[in-house]
Amino acid sequence: MKDTAKHQGLRNQLVSILQQKGISDKSVLEAIQKIPRHLFLDSSFEDYAYQDKAFPIGAGQTISQPYTVAFQSQLLQVKKDDKILEIGTGSGYQTAVLYKLGAKVYTVERQNELFKKTNALFPKLGIRPKHLSFGDGYKGLPLHAPFDSIIVTAGAPFIPKPLMAQLKIGGRLVIPLGENVQIMTLLIRKNETQFEKHEFGEFRFVPLLEDKN
Ligand code: SAH
Repeated sequence: MKDTAKHQGLRNQLVSILQQKGISDKSVLEAIQKIPRHLFLDSSFEDYAYQDKAFPIGAGQTISQPYTVAFQSQLLQVKKDDKILEIGTGSGYQTAVLYKLGAKVYTVERQNELFKKTNALFPKLGIRPKHLSFGDGYKGLPLHAPFDSIIVTAGAPFIPKPLMAQLKIGGRLVIPLGENVQIMTLLIRKNETQFEKHEFGEFRFVPLLEDKN
């Protein structure tokens, strides 16, 4: 599959839709305008890739809706060279958006099939995350901690303690919290023990599962 002027046109339309839905961060919109989302999906979804919808990516998982990716990315307030931990690599689309925003991305995926597929895809697209890991995101990545920000891209029943511990002071943790429906939640680490909590409405994600390996 290639990236063509037609795809670019569809991306421009998607960016307008995201703006209408309230996404205002210019750098996030620019990243979405540049990342060829259709290349993160099976070719049978090529015609739909720029709709603002989630689609299956195999192993019972989904690529997040562009609005959700934009919303979470905006909440992270990414600065160049920020060290960001992503839980739930999936298709790699969110990883690519963070990379485009200038972040050093560390990402964890628990489904081996998706881990392998995405690992093979990144070099083809010139996306260079700092570190790809196969494992349980509930544990974070203690060897690489602390992080400027952490983003969880699956619905978490609770906030995993290790993720809070691996966040720098002043750092931001963006996590959808809940079982069937999730409340988008932002925690800002104030000091060693205190976190400020903000909530941002309902979203729907596939569940963050504990490792059974
Ligand atoms: N960021 C992805 C979203 C994929 S859906 C994208 O843009 O495509 C959420 C992903 O989280 C799935 O791939 C799922 O396998 C993964 N996941 C679920 N529980 C996990 C866990 N405990 N650790 C790491 N990844 C997990």
